[in-house]
Amino acid sequence: MSVLVYTESENGKLKKAAFEVASYAKGIADLMGTSVTAVTVNAESVDELKTYGVEKVLKVSHDKLSKFNADAYAEVITQASKKEDAKVIVISQSANAKYLAPLLSVNLNAGYASNVVALPKTDGEFTVERTAFTNKAFNMTSISTEVKLLGLSSNAYGLKENEVSLSEEDFSPELNDENFGIIVESVDKNKDKVSIADAEVVVSAGRGMKGPENWGMIEELADVLGAATACSKPVSDMGWRSHGEHVGQTGKPVATNLYIAIGISGAIQHLAGISASKNKVVINTDPEAPFFKAADYGIVGDAFEVVPQLIEKLKEFKANNS
Ligand SMILES: Cc1cc2nc3c(=O)[nH]c(=O)nc-3n(C[C@H](O)[C@H](O)[C@H](O)COP(=O)(O)OP(=O)(O)OC[C@H]3O[C@@H](n4cnc5c(N)ncnc54)[C@H](O)[C@@H]3O)c2cc1C
Repeated sequence: MSVLVYTESENGKLKKAAFEVASYAKGIADLMGTSVTAVTVNAESVDELKTYGVEKVLKVSHDKLSKFNADAYAEVITQASKKEDAKVIVISQSANAKYLAPLLSVNLNAGYASNVVALPKTDGEFTVERTAFTNKAFNMTSISTEVKLLGLSSNAYGLKENEVSLSEEDFSPELNDENFGIIVESVDKNKDKVSIADAEVVVSAGRGMKGPENWGMIEELADVLGAATACSKPVSDMGWRSHGEHVGQTGKPVATNLYIAIGISGAIQHLAGISASKNKVVINTDPEAPFFKAADYGIVGDAFEVVPQLIEKLKEFKANNS
C-alpha cells in the first residue's frame, strides 16, 4: 500500500505543480507510515521527483496519450492506483486534474475532496481542510471511503525537499478504443509565454490601462520579471485581451508568489480569484481603490508613469546582478 500521486508533465517536462503534489503526498505517506509512488505520462526525466520524497515512479509512455484525454488518463491513474493498492491518491487542481477528479472518483469508488490546503488529520477519521467560497472560508471535510482522492490547491503546501532513493518502472496500462472516445486533434497555445498556472509572478492589468494599445508596457514588465500576464474581467469582455487572461471569481484563480495589479480597482469578484497569492502589489491612481486594503504593497500613482520607471529600475537591477 502506498500513496499514489499523479505528477503532470507538459512536452515531456514535469510541471511545477508536480513537485508540490509530490511533496504533499510525501507528507501524507509519512503520517501513514508508507511511501509515495508517482505515475507520469510521457514524462522524459522523472529523477527530480526523488528530491520531493517519491520512491517509485510508474512511467507510462504511449503515443495516443501525447495530448491530454480525460478518459484515457483517468484509466491510466486508476490502473496505477489498483496496482499499488493505493488508499490515498493526490492530484493537483489544474484544469486537466479537475477533469480527472470525477472520473477517478467513480472508477475507484473514492471520496473526493477538492481545494485541499493542509495535511489530513488521521486520528480515527480522515479529515482535510479545504478552501471554500473562493478562499473566503475554510471547511473541514471527513472522507469515509476506503480510497480517498485529494485535489491539492495550488501553492497551498509548497515544495518540501525530502530526498529519498527513487526507482523507475515502465508501466503499460491496458487501454482500449473506449478510452479514446474523444480525441484532441490539436492544441493552440500562446508560444513563449509563461502560463498563469505555472507562473511564480503574474502582472495583471485592468480598465485603468484605457485601451489595448497600452499593453506594451504590461508585456514588457512581465518579460523583465519572467511573469505571466493577466487581466480583469471587463478587459477581456471588451476584447482588449484574450479570455485566457481573465482572472477572478469567474476567471482563472491565481496563487502565485507575486501578483502585481495595475489599474485594477480590486472588486470583490477580482480579489476572490487572487487572494491565495502570497504577495500582492497594487498600482492605482486612486488611494481609495479597494485593492489597497487587500494588497501587501501599494503605489498610489499613474501606471503610465510608474510602470516605465519600474521596468527601467528592474532592468538596471538585473544588469547589475547578473
Ligand atoms: C457575477 C460577477 C462576476 C465577476 N467576475 C469577475 C472576475 O472574475 N474578475 C474580475 O476582474 N471582475 C469580475 N467581475 C467584475 C468586477 O465586479 C469589476 O467590475 C471588475 O473587476 C473591474 O475591473 P477593473 O478593476 O479593471 O476596472 P475598474 O473598476 O473600472 O477599475 C479601474 C481602476 O483603474 C484605476 N486607474 C485609472 N486610471 C489609472 C492609471 N492611469 N493608473 C493607475 N490606475 C488607474 C482606477 O482608479 C480604478 O481603480 C464580476 C462581476 C460580477 C457581477
